[in-house]
Amino acid sequence: MSAAVKPLLSPELVRLAARPATKEAAIREACQMLTAAGYIDAAYAESMLRREGVANTFLGHGVAIPHGMIEDRGLICENGLAILQVPDGVEWNPGQTTRFVVAIAAQSDAHITVLRRLTRLLQDEERLAALVTTTDPRAVIAALVDDVAPAAPSAPAADLAERFDWVVDYPAGLHARPASHWVDVARRSSARFQIRSGAETGDPKNLVSLLQLGLRAGDAVVVSAEGADATVGLAQLKAAILGLTLQEKADAARAAIRAETPAIGWKPETALPVVVGIGAGPGLAIGPVHVLRTAAIVIPDDPVSLSDGGNALHEALTTTREQLAALADDTARRLGPSEAAIFKAQAEFLSDTDLVTLACQLMVEGHGPAWSWHEAAERMARKLEALGNPLLAARAADLRDVGQRVLGRLAPTLALGSLTDLPAEPCILVAADLSPSVTASLDMERIAGLATAQGGPTSHTAILARTLGLPAMVAGTDALLDIAEGTLAVLDGSTGRLHLAPTEADLVSARAFIAAAAAKRAREAEERALPATTRDGHRVEIGANVNNPAQVETAVAQGAEGVGLMRTEFLFLERGATPSEDEQFAVYESMLDALGDRPLIVRALDIGGDKQVAHLDLPREENPFLGVRGARLLLRRPDLLDPQLRALYRAAKSGRRLSIMFPMITSLQEVTALRAVCERIRAEVDAPAVPLGIMVEVPSAAMMADVFAPHVDFFSIGTNDLTQYALAIDRQHPELAAEADSLHPAVLRLIRKTVEGAAAHGRWVGVCGGIAGDPFGAALLTGLGIAELSMTPRDIPAVKARLRASDFAELTALAARALACETADAVRALDGGRS
Ligand code: PEP
Ligand code: MG
Repeated sequence: MSAAVKPLLSPELVRLAARPATKEAAIREACQMLTAAGYIDAAYAESMLRREGVANTFLGHGVAIPHGMIEDRGLICENGLAILQVPDGVEWNPGQTTRFVVAIAAQSDAHITVLRRLTRLLQDEERLAALVTTTDPRAVIAALVDDVAPAAPSAPAADLAERFDWVVDYPAGLHARPASHWVDVARRSSARFQIRSGAETGDPKNLVSLLQLGLRAGDAVVVSAEGADATVGLAQLKAAILGLTLQEKADAARAAIRAETPAIGWKPETALPVVVGIGAGPGLAIGPVHVLRTAAIVIPDDPVSLSDGGNALHEALTTTREQLAALADDTARRLGPSEAAIFKAQAEFLSDTDLVTLACQLMVEGHGPAWSWHEAAERMARKLEALGNPLLAARAADLRDVGQRVLGRLAPTLALGSLTDLPAEPCILVAADLSPSVTASLDMERIAGLATAQGGPTSHTAILARTLGLPAMVAGTDALLDIAEGTLAVLDGSTGRLHLAPTEADLVSARAFIAAAAAKRAREAEERALPATTRDGHRVEIGANVNNPAQVETAVAQGAEGVGLMRTEFLFLERGATPSEDEQFAVYESMLDALGDRPLIVRALDIGGDKQVAHLDLPREENPFLGVRGARLLLRRPDLLDPQLRALYRAAKSGRRLSIMFPMITSLQEVTALRAVCERIRAEVDAPAVPLGIMVEVPSAAMMADVFAPHVDFFSIGTNDLTQYALAIDRQHPELAAEADSLHPAVLRLIRKTVEGAAAHGRWVGVCGGIAGDPFGAALLTGLGIAELSMTPRDIPAVKARLRASDFAELTALAARALACETADAVRALDGGRS
């Protein structure tokens, strides 16, 4: 071992404008350079050539990374890389031309940083193309090692050229949600950033690297930047970091209030042993504990060529990213933006260069893609867990879940761990953690409650448990896993407590508690099936916003009288390809089947804005919310509109109650053009006419409702968009979205204008935006003359109860007062809890 460590890459190891005739010549040339510079024994060239015989080292995009066999590492004297720039290209494999050869001689993992850089380069085609023609070897070195050179372990980490100091004032520390916002902002700049806490540094463009710092409230950090865009980029990052403080404090205050809420749950008669966690799904459950000991899944290691593996991984990551985007979008609409942020943060893992590179590297070492991906995700999850921070431990569970999704794409046969050995009587399922996929597939007949050692109140398990109505606790620590199988327990999901070995008196009291809660639910169930008729006899139709037939049953059980909004974009978002006319027809048919004689309003595809579908390859827009979105896109893309309308009219032939509506209408020309297409297709498929409506989501549509009314059968107001366009606030804006209150008097006046315009021609108006599911909002909308309210199913009982307890005359007066208010706060102040 030489005294002075040689650099991994230096100008003598870069050869520009090389012209090797063959792959073998290229490898030999690179090895000669490494040998001449004292990095390897000349025999290592044979080892590299042998590797080519058993694995493909072509990475893609014209880059190849030849390297020797593991058993020949003894021939390496120093870790090093030799670069051959081959502008004319050399055939690596039939059909694969290499222009950039990175020959790797590495005893240890020193080259991982280079691989990480390479994977980034592979995604930056422009820069890669420049490297293939550059005449400056330093450009090559800079691209491969400059910004990843590890700091000498003993030297204190240095800050970059421009910096600011900050003391973490997020009460929960730097957890995934704020961190992923930092990453979003940092990535928008070309500057290089660094965050330093003591001697530890992290990259604000990399979520995992940020989380690994494990920053807690009170930690002092230095955020620094360098590069052309450093000043502006750093200012933006600083604004983003400081801008989240208020939100984080508010979230923490809310969490604290929740935590302090006196135990409203069940109180045992005797002092029972108890495991305390965090309540994640309200309700009480009694049952024997069943501890789920997940058998380690064996991932077969089936090597394929590196390019096939790379393609498979790329495809799996892309599809998973799309799935998560769809899930985030759906969750935002159904549960709210905070819950959706979890999925966005999860998706960050898919772009994590460390993770992806590690997987690539394992493939380069000769492992199969599924094995490599699983191994990489596991290693990273273990790293996160080892940091001893509960928030990061929760991220490890998220990473494993994302990992599982990707794995499912890579090797569909690797079914998720199933729960086949559950006891016959309903049990309290105890597990270290449960992936959302497993939670979603739980057999509700055999599970009374859930308790997990890990996870947090916003983990998927928690969200899904609430959605499933399952009593649940999370973060019960490993103490949970030590409970003997079969121990009788009472789980209180409201207070997050698992009471063990209850006495007979405790059981009697717990059963009484459960019976009382069930009776209350039964009363609600009875009520929610009743119509939303006010005390003075004014009836409002109540619909549900559901996207697929499977959700209809729950919606109806919650009291939905039909579907007021079926967002069809999820048919497109959830899969990697455009659904065919027949596939769409089948879905609309099953929706109608599931609804029986209840009405169904299907919204034609609303793509654009925040709903982007990768496989449609639409041009990138500077301002997608103001671009080719909704009806504008449909009119430009008959290949999307026609099959959808054909499928809908074919479904209408069964004579059931189907209506079609169009999103993002802004002009009369759009309405008449869309009606003409509908009529043409109706005639082609020989279907009956169906009611055609438009969504009012843009102020122009509200203002012109009287002009549109003769041309449409109904209006449905999308208050989510109407609010964003009326108030000029991006509905997803992290800082402003909270101000985008649909009860703003400006929005209410637009709603009023719509109702008046529609009424002049005898048309009805519904609302299917989020405010329809808010009991006070629903009361106000009813007072404004809205005839139908469509909402997320779980909101229905409370809305119905509110309307049934109101007088229409009072609601009309309330609406008049609201229209006269000066601010949204003033409108909200009119809510006395009962109208
Ligand atoms: C709306 O904008 O209120 C609406 C219902 O449509 P989406 O949320 O799907 O944009
Ligand atoms: Mg909308």
